[in-house]
Amino acid sequence: MSPFKRTLVTSALPYANGEIHLGHLAGAYLPADIYVRFLRLRGEDVLYICGTDEYGVPITLTAEKLGITPKELVDRNHASIKRSFAAFGMSFDNFSQTSRPIHTETARAFFLDLHRQGVFKQKTTDQFFSPSQDRFLADRYIEGVCPRCGSDGARGDQCEKCGSSLDPTELIDPRNAQDGSPLELRQTTHWFLPLGDWQDRLKEFLAGHPDWKENVLRYCQGWFADGLQDRAMTRDLAWGVPVPLPDHEGKVMFVWFEAPIGYISATREWAAARGEPEAWRTWWQQADTRLVHFIGKDNIFFHALLFPAMLMAHSEPYVLPDNVPANEFLNLEGQKLSTSRGFAVWLPEYLEKFGPDPLRYTLARNLPETRDMNFTWEGFLARNNSELGNNFGNLINRVFTFIHKYFEGKVPRWSDGALTDLDRRALAEVEADLATWAACLERFEIKGAVEAAFHAGQVGNRYFDESAPFKTRKDDVARCEQSLGVIIQILRMLCVMLAPVVPFAMQKLWSWLGMPGDLWREGWAAGRLPIEAGRPLGTPEILFPRIEQEQIQAESERLRRLLDG
Ligand SMILES: [Zn+2]
Repeated sequence: MSPFKRTLVTSALPYANGEIHLGHLAGAYLPADIYVRFLRLRGEDVLYICGTDEYGVPITLTAEKLGITPKELVDRNHASIKRSFAAFGMSFDNFSQTSRPIHTETARAFFLDLHRQGVFKQKTTDQFFSPSQDRFLADRYIEGVCPRCGSDGARGDQCEKCGSSLDPTELIDPRNAQDGSPLELRQTTHWFLPLGDWQDRLKEFLAGHPDWKENVLRYCQGWFADGLQDRAMTRDLAWGVPVPLPDHEGKVMFVWFEAPIGYISATREWAAARGEPEAWRTWWQQADTRLVHFIGKDNIFFHALLFPAMLMAHSEPYVLPDNVPANEFLNLEGQKLSTSRGFAVWLPEYLEKFGPDPLRYTLARNLPETRDMNFTWEGFLARNNSELGNNFGNLINRVFTFIHKYFEGKVPRWSDGALTDLDRRALAEVEADLATWAACLERFEIKGAVEAAFHAGQVGNRYFDESAPFKTRKDDVARCEQSLGVIIQILRMLCVMLAPVVPFAMQKLWSWLGMPGDLWREGWAAGRLPIEAGRPLGTPEILFPRIEQEQIQAESERLRRLLDG
């Protein structure tokens, strides 16, 4: 049996510099929410933590452009992201902010713990300082002539022309990328985490998790092969968590040092709000907690190596991630998403036009679990109309309408003892789908789970046609009632399988079926019990409205124009 008593799930903290788009949802958010809802409906102890990541240079630049303070900007964006996530059905137990005092306090205490143990190395290096802006510049805000290909406009970290990766000190004629002003090299001192010292322990840690996704293990093996390097954990910046040491004015923590600690701060905040301020320790420091980080592939290094090394280095016994199910990327109409060109579909704009369930379903069917996947508006329309509408919606609608018309809206008389081979075969197939569904979700194979639910819908439709209650109603009422009773059992199991994916629609179906208790606490157990004859059923409405070609036309055209332009 599992050694774990509870599961702590995190989704990568979204950066509070803009809105959420479809690529984010398919990477770290929707899969996590589906997984969490699955655990909840099995009655497991689960806590789902997230929040906005609010420090770093891009936030300060956007705030300057808008003429507001960074704090005003992140508060505004946090509120907006939180609202869109809620409308999309993200079921976080806490959605916090890294600019809150509880995070500052948690991150500073974490930093000091490592510092006191002598984990950090202090190093002094030369870095570019911009007198015009009175600050040190991050690599990508430095511009100059590429020493390899001679083209102007290369950035401090990379030349886009020839693809060489660069060190800013190699640039010829280096200048401030924003205003073109000259730079000075100045000495600065920083605290480094000597990750190389942790390589063996990290290797051993990963060797204990051969079940992790292949892409995650492959990336980590690559970094091990190159050898892990010292990484600076502090920066010369104004907007960040101040380094809690004397004589370190103007220095803040590297965002990738403090942002993962945000998961801990958000858990502390959740515990404090419940009036049990120490309860966060149960989730972070008891070995029977299972920690799972959902992320996109660009964050693997930080969650599979850097954060575990930090947790190992702490003097208190933190749990390490039991899994880091990272997704690949989602493309849009066959092209890479680009937020700088506006080539993206933003969640708030989507939600103005369509409901959350069709997008949840379409993305869940197309998750980039093992390779990059593609979202198209045509595909969205087809998934909604032919799968949600025809496969699931029609079946539910046909059954309820029929029972309301001919059987006073109550589950007709049926019994286990009167099952025919046809009945038994259909029920067994859906039971098998339910088992496949659960096994897939346990392995984070969301797509496989949705496929099992889709198959169960097909079984239900085929059974409805073959048992033909619309015919037997006239010549064999007992048989008609029996088959309607069977199909109600199929809908009960289908409701459980679809609930994590399309929670808004399935919450309705759950109540129409007259199911007892809370879907998100007792769904699994209740979903295993037969629905008895005579139970009154609710009056259904259309669960998955059709989407017309005209509705997606404008969306596809907007993207096409961006591609052409
Ligand atoms: Zn170059």
